[in-house]
Amino acid sequence: MVKAYAASKAKDPLKLLDYPALKELGPFDIEVKITHCGICHSDLHLIDNDWGNSLYPLIPGHEIIGTVANRGTHVDHLKLGQRVGIGWQRSSCLQCIYCLKGEENLCNLQEATCIGHPGGYAEKIFADSRFAFAIPDAIPSSHAGPLMCGGITVFSPFIEHNISPLMHVGVIGIGGLGHLALQFARAWGCEVSAISSSKDKEKEAKDFGAHHFMLHEALSGLENHFDLLLSTSTASVNAELYLKTLKPKGILCLLGAPPENIEVQIMSLISQRKIICGSNIGSRWAIEKMLHFAAFHQILPKIEEFPIEQVNEAIGKLRNNRVHYRAVLKMQK
Ligand code: NAP
Ligand code: ZN
Repeated sequence: MVKAYAASKAKDPLKLLDYPALKELGPFDIEVKITHCGICHSDLHLIDNDWGNSLYPLIPGHEIIGTVANRGTHVDHLKLGQRVGIGWQRSSCLQCIYCLKGEENLCNLQEATCIGHPGGYAEKIFADSRFAFAIPDAIPSSHAGPLMCGGITVFSPFIEHNISPLMHVGVIGIGGLGHLALQFARAWGCEVSAISSSKDKEKEAKDFGAHHFMLHEALSGLENHFDLLLSTSTASVNAELYLKTLKPKGILCLLGAPPENIEVQIMSLISQRKIICGSNIGSRWAIEKMLHFAAFHQILPKIEEFPIEQVNEAIGKLRNNRVHYRAVLKMQK
């Protein structure tokens, strides 16, 4: 049996639950002994069933770090005892045109680590080794988890949209994703603005790499300002306001996934060819690149570590926007 923490229904506190271990590893499977797991806000959306697709009992956790404890017959690229990370995506078909192109995160048959499968708030996980990634030595296990979802999500728009160092990037919402976005944008060479609802985050936002800090209110006075706006906030999105602050051909990229819809007037997009788009995590290739980039530029999350037994305290803090900046669960040895 595997010890894990699960919500039995929407918005419930998590409770200890035992579930049966996989009887036999498939050829590409690995068993991972989990040492750490980040708490992404998507876990909280899932616990609360904000998106209407949660399945209970729900074992959250998709910023997973651990060591390979066992491996299937076809697993060559990961060794026993090796440190690995597992993020949001647990599988894809590996055969469709998107998978063949290296865009597994666009595959129609992709599966999420902790929807309908037990996630990482647990002592171990059984995973497809092709969606597990070696962690560079320069990244400590305590800090690696948040890169596996938060990190790749804010990194991949820089590749997808050919962001150049000549550009001004604004990051809305300085939480788990946002504080990593500031670091990646700065290392990318861009001019960087942090846009927050919390005045007390100014100093740390600048320490993470922001050249400028502003409260949301300040956006209403801006026009022709940003080339790329990354919206990572869990608050509802004021798309009209954000679009107005963009330069011609500027991009509003939605990463945060609050359940509310957005409303946009068509002319706000037409007249200056502005772009509004969403982005989900990143491909396996991008995850490898992101881990290398983070290790090389020493991009690490600022974390608050909680023993797994205190998972509900950590979630309570996240609910109240009081985590600076990513809660990470530490498993029992
Ligand atoms: P987080 O750590 O809770 O940060 C969210 C930030 O939103 C907060 O720090 C806060 O920043 C801001 N915020 C504004 N109003 C808020 C409110 N009423 N309640 C709470 N926060 C508020 O969350 P996260 O882990 O970074 O995740 C952010 C969003 O991205 C979530 O919706 C998550 O599901 C989504 N996500 C998407 C992907 C993807 O693939 N697209 C991947 C991972 C996560 P300020 O204090 O600076 O305003
Ligand atoms: Zn996540």
